Formats: sequence, C-alpha cells, structure tokens
Amino acid sequence: MKFYNTLSRKIENFKPIKDKKVGMYTCGPTVYYYAHLGNLRTYIFEDILKRVLEYNNYKVKHIMNITDVGHLTSDADTGEDKIEKQAKKQKKSAYQIAEFYTKAFKKDLERLNIKKPTVWVKATRTIKEQIKLIQLLEKKGFTYRISDGIYFDTSRLKTYGRLWPKKMKLKEGARVEKVKDKKNPTDFALWKFSPKGVKRQMEWNSPWGKGFPGWHTECVVMSIKYLGIPFDIHCGGVDHILIHHTNEIAQAEAAYGKILANYWLHGEFLILKKKKRMGKSEGNVVILDDLIKNGINPLAYRYLCLTSHYRSPLFFSSKALSASQNALKKLYEKILKLKHQTSNIKHQTFVKYQKKFLKLINTDLNIPKALALMWKVIEDKKISDSEKYALVLDFDKIFGLKLNKVKKPKIPLEIKKMVLLREKYRKQKQWEKADKLRKKIEEKGYKVEDTQKGPEIFPQSISV
Ligand code: AMP
Ligand code: ZN
Repeated sequence: MKFYNTLSRKIENFKPIKDKKVGMYTCGPTVYYYAHLGNLRTYIFEDILKRVLEYNNYKVKHIMNITDVGHLTSDADTGEDKIEKQAKKQKKSAYQIAEFYTKAFKKDLERLNIKKPTVWVKATRTIKEQIKLIQLLEKKGFTYRISDGIYFDTSRLKTYGRLWPKKMKLKEGARVEKVKDKKNPTDFALWKFSPKGVKRQMEWNSPWGKGFPGWHTECVVMSIKYLGIPFDIHCGGVDHILIHHTNEIAQAEAAYGKILANYWLHGEFLILKKKKRMGKSEGNVVILDDLIKNGINPLAYRYLCLTSHYRSPLFFSSKALSASQNALKKLYEKILKLKHQTSNIKHQTFVKYQKKFLKLINTDLNIPKALALMWKVIEDKKISDSEKYALVLDFDKIFGLKLNKVKKPKIPLEIKKMVLLREKYRKQKQWEKADKLRKKIEEKGYKVEDTQKGPEIFPQSISV
C-alpha cells in the first residue's frame, strides 16, 4: 500500500508499527454547529482510508475526538471559544450545545454510511492529562506565561514546522496573526486563562490558574492516550497542516522526543464558485439536512465524493449532486438485475478484476478510477452476471454505497396478476395478447423480463 505522506511530501510505502495492526487518529468535529458538507467530505475520505486498510486485512484502531472546548474563533489562539459563543447565542449551556451537535454529527455519519471509530473521546474528558502534558513541557523549558495564558515557545524547538512546505520556512510566521506579548508569531497557547471578570461555563483549575486547554494540546493527549507514541496514521483536512497538526507535532516532539505519527494524510477542500472553500466563516455552508429536504439521498453525496481524488479540490454544485444521484439510481437498478441472475463464477476473470481494483485503491486511494472500474465490470459482456454481482459487492466494501441492501420494492398484486395472465397467453402462443399486456405493465411502471426461471418483474426505476 502506498500513501502520500504530508510529512515527507512523497508517496511512501505503508509500513505499520505492529504487523497487521494500525493505529489511526482523525481530528473530529468542533461541536458548535452542524457539520457542513466540506467537513463531511473529509470524514468520508477518512472512512475510505479505514476501509482500504481493513480490505487489506489490517485491524484498525481508530480514535476520533470531539472538540467540546478550546477551539477559538481564530486558529491563532485569539477570539472567543466557539462553543461558549454559540451557547450565548442560543441561550443554552455550553454542555447542551456540545451534546446537541455531537448527536447531530453522529447521525450524519450514520446517514453517510461512515463506520464508527473504535473510540470516541471528548476533549473535556482528558483535562487532567492535558495539564500533565503542559507540566512536562514546562519542566523541559518549552513554555512561558503571558497575560492571557501559558504558551509554547516554538523558537526552542529546532524541528518546528516539519509539516510545512519548504518555501514556507523562508516566510516563517507570516501566516499567523500577531498576539500581543507572544515571543514568536508561531507560538501557541497551551492553557488559556478564563478572561478576568468573565465566568466561563467550561473552565478548570490548573497550576497556572483557572482556564481551559488549547485546542492543539487536546489532540496530542487524546491520540497518545489510546494509541501510544508514535502511532501510524494521523488525518484531517488540508487546513490543519500549517497550524493545528504542526503544533500537535511540536508538543509531542518537545515532550517525548518522538514524532507523534508516522503518516500524515490530508484531504483537500470541498469548494464552491470561484474556488472558495465551503466554511462556516465563509458563510456558505450546506448541511446534510439541506440535501435531504431537497430529496437527495445522503449516499448520492458520498458518491459525489468518490468521483474525485482526496488530494484534489472537489467542486460542489447542485448540478454535480444531481448527476451523482442519477448515477447512484442507475447503479441500484443494475444491481437489482444482477442480483436476480444465477450463473457460474469463472474464477479467473473475478481475480483479474479484483487485482486491478486492489492496485487502484492501494495506490494512494485512487477511488475515482476504482469507481470507473466498477462500471466497466457492470458493462463487461464477457463475464457472467453472478460474477459481476459478486465483484461489485466486494468493491462496495470500500465505496460504502450499501449495494448489498438494494432491494426490489414490493410488486403490487395487480401487476403480478397481469404477469401471470401474460404467461398464460405466451404458453398458448397468443403473442399479440401477451405483447399488449406487456405494454400495459410497462405503462404502470414495471418491466417483465423472461428468464430461465420464468418471468421476473422489475420496477422501471428505483428511487434512491
Ligand atoms: P472543524 O470542525 O472545523 O475542526 O473541521 C472538521 C474537519 O473538516 C477538519 O478535518 C477540517 O480540516 C475539515 N474541513 C473544514 N472545511 C472543509 C472543506 N471546505 N472541505 C473539506 N474539509 C474541510
Ligand atoms: Zn486535532
């Protein structure tokens, strides 16, 4: 298996630390609002990655966090806590907000057929461990105190910025906002003090004063707690490369002298017109409920995500979405037909296609080509229907389009009776009458196909 590793900026062979076991951490949502389709694209990419690992017989221990405190409105440690801000706006408690949007998030994952992580972990459940990590960093001389918190001194770590592209190093720090009193523009908060005179809902005592942990510290602690250090794979969207993941790596390296994870995989953005990313701060978000309200099956959005490589931006439009919905519908119709045919499996062809498929998914997740291969299988006249069906179901272990759940809708009694009568006419060689009946059946939205086992009835189209 080969993946593009942001750490080396190369496609590398994947070698896990422990034989056939893989430790994987994916940065989870900040639960202050519904996940938008951009966020969900990243979670779909991570789900595909996990399915590819499992397809290769790896046992994946997957940890996903819930950021329920500490993510500020600016990634540069300024601004308000996103959850506290939303709580004020909705006149609810911060815990209620976090709980509500966590539930909504989990529901979205289910609707998109994204597999659950092995462990869910909330940032607020690991505060003690986070304080311990900051104490360790303090002991090793990587921290300093200013008026609003305890900060990490990035100038003390020679390897800081490992994930950055080389040219970034020249303009070091140009990307982050300046915060008053910070020693270096790239320094980041480990512990923020509760602002004077403000009673935060989420705050804890610490050796430095009442406050809350920094977002980058949370992920280091939660990943190491369940996976140890180093672990195999860390993922997120590309926006996490320059700040969040850079700062996770820095803390782990300063505290333990080790790289946090060996492989860093990042998914590109979902974009809209003029290459603008979908984002809450851009004010252009679309959520899964919006699609459902418009009659779109969430799996049609999943299908759309499969059509583009995870390292390429994906353009979102209602046209692209309805094309995906149509493709999915066509696919379900094909599956339904294949499902009802029985014929021999010629092992050779099956294995040939399976090998091709494996090569594609194992080469940095070439899912768009794997999807094209699936259509090629369906259209291939040289292989039997049973073989096609078996292959497509096998491929769907990666695509996750629920092809094994495609079911024939109930055929109304009236149609069944018409088919039986048509059969009778056919046996009596009354072809004209039989043909007339077939037309009538079609007008009512059904198709009859004469197979070796007798007539099969299908709906003209399947709603997805
Ligand atoms: P957040 O809840 O803001 O931490 O984001 C959750 C995940 O979505 C992160 O991995 C982000 O990198 C990712 N993300 C944010 N915006 C987009 C987008 N427009 N397209 C794809 N992924 C995104
Ligand atoms: Zn994270």
